[in-house]
This record gives sequence, structure tokens and C-alpha cells, in this order.
Amino acid sequence: MAYSYDDQNIFAKILRGEIPNDTVLETEHSLAFRDIRPQAPTHVLVIPKGAYVCYDDFALNASDAEILDYTRAIGKVCEMEGVAANGFRLISNAGEEGVQEVPHLHVHILAGRSLGRMLE
Ligand code: IMP
Repeated sequence: MAYSYDDQNIFAKILRGEIPNDTVLETEHSLAFRDIRPQAPTHVLVIPKGAYVCYDDFALNASDAEILDYTRAIGKVCEMEGVAANGFRLISNAGEEGVQEVPHLHVHILAGRSLGRMLE
């Protein structure tokens, strides 16, 4: 599948410094910042700096260095936010049926309250 990246999406603007963000962590290939509409006491979004629409685009097309950096950045934010003790959830919405609002890959890190069961 060919992925079409819209460089006017809001996370592209954040990466270009055109709109502000509440940064938690910045690495060579990744940026983590707090969600503007938090759904839990901890709600951090982790994005790659490269132009990837969604997880499969990234996993199939990013370099090994980007993938390693991004995977580690997610782990580092979990460590920094201290979410491991009581548990947390990672979510990455994709496409229309996944109800993805912003078409730039992001993983939500949610923690700090009971998140309920999503899958039965
Ligand atoms: P999605 O439904 O997985 O695409 O979620 C997009 C997320 O981006 C939502 O949780 C929004 O609250 C969040 N969001 C949108 N604009 C901004 C922003 O400017 N800063 C931080 N988070 C944002």
C-alpha cells in the first residue's frame, strides 16, 4: 500500500515548531509530548520525526535507527513517567475505522487510573 503523508497535519506543524507543545522527551528521531486533551492523569503522545502516517507505514519503511530510537523513546517515557508500577496502556489508532484524528504516527501512553477492559 502507498502511504500519502499530509505535511499540514498538526503533528507535522509541531515538529516544524509552528505550534507549541508540552515536550516530555526529544531524541534524535522521536518526540514525546503531552496530549492536549488528556484522557488519563498520564497521557503522552510519542511520534517519530519522520513523515510516517501510521504504525505499518513506519514499521515497513523507517530505517532500523528510527525504529530503535522510537521503540526506546516509548520505553524511556514510560520510565520517566513511572507508569510501570501500576500499569499502563499503549494505543496507536490508524485510518478511518481506527478513528485516527491526526495522520502522523503516534502512540498514546495512558496511565494513572484504571483504564477498563477494551477487548473481551
Ligand atoms: P488519534 O485519534 O489517535 O489520532 O489522537 C490524536 C490525539 O492528538 C488526540 O488525543 C488529541 O487530543 C491530540 N492532539 C491534537 N492536537 C494536539 C496538539 O496540538 N497537542 C497535543 N495533542 C494534540
